Amino acid sequence: MPFPDRAEIQVAESVQSVRDAVSRAKWSGHRVGFVPTMGALHVGHVSLIERARRECGYVAVSIFVNPTQFGPNEDFNRYPRPRDADLAMCRDAGADLVFYPTVETMYPVGHRTFVEVAGLSEILEGAIRPGHFRGVTTVVTKLFNIVQADRAYFGQKDYQQQSVIRVMARELDMPTDVVTCETIRDPDGLALSSRNAYLSESERKSGLALSRALRLAERLAGEGELDIPTLESAMRNELENTPGVTLEYAVIVNHESMRELTAAEPRMVALVAARVGSTRLIDNMILRLPSGTIT
Ligand code: AMP
Repeated sequence: MPFPDRAEIQVAESVQSVRDAVSRAKWSGHRVGFVPTMGALHVGHVSLIERARRECGYVAVSIFVNPTQFGPNEDFNRYPRPRDADLAMCRDAGADLVFYPTVETMYPVGHRTFVEVAGLSEILEGAIRPGHFRGVTTVVTKLFNIVQADRAYFGQKDYQQQSVIRVMARELDMPTDVVTCETIRDPDGLALSSRNAYLSESERKSGLALSRALRLAERLAGEGELDIPTLESAMRNELENTPGVTLEYAVIVNHESMRELTAAEPRMVALVAARVGSTRLIDNMILRLPSGTIT
């Protein structure tokens, strides 16, 4: 029989109840998997929970719209919070526990401790959203300390986020392994995102320019185009020539340091960010060169 009975899902609102449940699972010999989210769950989140389910005997999900990772003019207040639908998705995906803390639980009045990965947090997304990654690394540290999972699952969709968290976990000797899972897309290529709910039908069509730009770079690199400025300007043109899209960046970076490249490397990542109406969209793809091109 699975542990606990799969028909039941525990919703925990306090740190202590999460600790108690995870201790019981560990005591029963289970590996603990953890999927941190902000809710408004979609098939991308479900894929992380299902992967955790396959690899771990006990699966905890957190749903917390984390105020410290939103800038003052961002969408914290209007971020969707469909509690019942989210809990049903967690249950159907096989989660054992959902941690649903309040802001006061995570940040009691007077909270003043923050975690920051210098450098990596200030480029790309961090340059456009100052303080964003400081909020992410702080909340993920707290969640890792609360859940004490063996493995935590993140999406490649937020490439820089998983990079920052990977570095943080390594440099702070956190005992939780960071696992990155592939980006789930709609059949037309749009990467799933809770923020896609903000898009009108025509904005959604415009938003397809992000995956189109990335596929173009992927195809050109696959055909042997090694000139980084050529690949980047191909992506930029695709985005800039799509009505309704305001380009923020279209760059090719080292897969680990995320430094922008001037010459091709075997493992590169193409990253794009753009505004469509009032919605920011980001996406990325790992570029594979034809084998033997460079070593
Ligand atoms: P969020 O709720 O936006 O904070 O996302 C929670 C986790 O789900 C993060 O690790 C995201 O990278 C991941 N995620 C979001 N969208 C996708 C997607 N389309 N495919 C795979 N993972 C995703």
